[in-house]
Amino acid sequence: MNKIYVVGIGPGKREAMTAEAESALAGSDLIVGYSKYIDLVRPYFPNHPVLDTGMRKETERCRMAFEKANEGMTVSLVCSGDSGIYGMAGLIYELSTEFPETEIVVVPGITAAISGGSVLGAPIGHDFAVISLSDLLTPWELIEKRLKCAAEGDFNIALYNPSSHKRHDYLQKACDILLTVHSADLICGYVKNIGREGEAAVVLTLGELRNTQVDMFTTVFIGSTRTKVINGKMVTPRGYRDV
Ligand code: SAH
Repeated sequence: MNKIYVVGIGPGKREAMTAEAESALAGSDLIVGYSKYIDLVRPYFPNHPVLDTGMRKETERCRMAFEKANEGMTVSLVCSGDSGIYGMAGLIYELSTEFPETEIVVVPGITAAISGGSVLGAPIGHDFAVISLSDLLTPWELIEKRLKCAAEGDFNIALYNPSSHKRHDYLQKACDILLTVHSADLICGYVKNIGREGEAAVVLTLGELRNTQVDMFTTVFIGSTRTKVINGKMVTPRGYRDV
């Protein structure tokens, strides 16, 4: 009753969805979300009513969830990966002041940095940063600063939103900034369609990555100076063998 679960469904495959996410979805009267994410969960809950919000703006999508909850429903709002990391959880809390009678439960999910990391090997075995290359909500100058600072701190970096139709050269621009700090042979990798049909992983150097086009369903991994390739996998040793 009057409840919204903000559910991180993981990368896509059912095995990577948490039991908590599954039971939230199973216990909901309505599953709300962007069509692509609805499509991912619909096969697992074929009899559940769904509301596909289409390409609506995020705020509108969240409002719809509140309006349905206000009708007395338990609503699950689905996000890919984790529901807090570039997800809807924050926005739901911001809007909740307008809908004080609705209970909010955030259900975490396996984010792309984690699920993609396991496909590549163990690229984030140590301190890491997550940076989105989307400048829709963050000015590009700030993204550049974060990239540079993360490289200077020798963090492993997971890059989300590395490309879109309008931003096809952003990964190249990002690599150019990283190349002011790192050498061109730094080990990097990327994974496309993690946990979904067409999953594909590539390990390559930063110099090669600079000249690679990826799509928006890809997560890119930048190594630290410790990162190496072991049997074709991207590995950042935590340092156990050095102590
Ligand atoms: N909440 C999501 C992130 C949403 S931002 C999460 O925690 O994973 C969207 C970006 O996430 C994409 O551009 C891509 O970089 C990354 N991403 C999300 N799911 C992915 C998947 N299954 N395969 C590859 N990248 C993915």
